Amino acid sequence: MRFETLCVHAGTGPDPVTGAITLPIHLSTTYERDADGEFRRGFKYARDLNPTRQALERAMAIVEGGAAALAFASGQAATAAVFQALQPGDHVVLPDSVYYGTPRLVNEMFVPWGLRATTVSMSDLSEVRSAVRDGTRLIWVETPSNPLLTITDIAGVVAIARQAGAMVVVDNTWATPVGQRPLELGADMAMHASTKYLGGHSDVMGGVLVAREDNEFFARVRSVQHTAGGIAAPFDSWLVHRGIKTLAWRVRAQTANATAVTTFLAAHPAVEVVHYPGLGSHPGHDVAARQMRLFGGMASFQVRGGRAEALAVAGKCKVFTRATSLGGVESLIEHRASVEGAATRAPESLLRLSIGLENADDLIDDLGRALA
Ligand SMILES: *Cc1c(COP(=O)(O)O)cnc(C)c1O
Repeated sequence: MRFETLCVHAGTGPDPVTGAITLPIHLSTTYERDADGEFRRGFKYARDLNPTRQALERAMAIVEGGAAALAFASGQAATAAVFQALQPGDHVVLPDSVYYGTPRLVNEMFVPWGLRATTVSMSDLSEVRSAVRDGTRLIWVETPSNPLLTITDIAGVVAIARQAGAMVVVDNTWATPVGQRPLELGADMAMHASTKYLGGHSDVMGGVLVAREDNEFFARVRSVQHTAGGIAAPFDSWLVHRGIKTLAWRVRAQTANATAVTTFLAAHPAVEVVHYPGLGSHPGHDVAARQMRLFGGMASFQVRGGRAEALAVAGKCKVFTRATSLGGVESLIEHRASVEGAATRAPESLLRLSIGLENADDLIDDLGRALA
């Protein structure tokens, strides 16, 4: 079946007991044991397995093209489970342009427990090659990256990792499985903050990991989740599962809007540079065009001037709401440097846009007024 059809039907069908068309929300924490002590129906205790969460996990495995998936309480809980499944002494390679919570998690939580980490500029494959060493177990990729939309060649990193016997995990939150399918490019795992496009309506937090093979390492990740308990709740699982049904069409429309908005911004005299991989001027455009089906709804731009000028533009927007996060139906604008704090790599003149489902002309008019 084709992608849109998979999104609508993946991981669910009419409920076999009642015929209900939508997925039931199972709240029970505990399940009846058979008279002989077995659990033939498969469910025992909700931290290990819950039918609503399981339906979401099946849907995600299908839309990302993987063998298995796990749904977590947040994107960060999913990321943490990956690093927690490694061993003290293992070495990982991280990108320098990345969601700021990822290096924070590694450096504040896992390095003190013995993980070793090297940070590189990942759009340059020679930097990745020279960072790999004995004991490198994992290379973390985020493309397009937050907030500069840097592009990393996923297949190129996979080739380096294969030679080194390391895994590749791709944070696919921004691209979504509609725009990019890392497992088809050879990555071992795709990670999502389902808080963003998968949920799609700014009303649920979640994280998902999808594995290309349900192998020994993924079993370890599953064991971390079931033992440490970072699971997605039933209602949250249901909301994300519902979001997936409209994902293909939302991201398609958000990409069309983002294309219109970034084309407008790129020609505006008050704008210094626009970061959007769909623009021919973007340094990662060729790689992005090769590995992405859609360029997505995320963009950022730098105004002429600095922090004050950028904050003033955000302050004048009326259709764009000033808020963090992304991937919802409503457009958001954010001064990223002041959100990330002292350790930020975001330029002070940069504003990040999450393009929603409004009419593109209203978004352009709004930015035009703010930049005037
Ligand atoms: C939001 C985000 C995360 C973290 O997800 P949470 O649900 O906030 O924990 C990770 N990676 C990217 C790219 C994100 O945008």
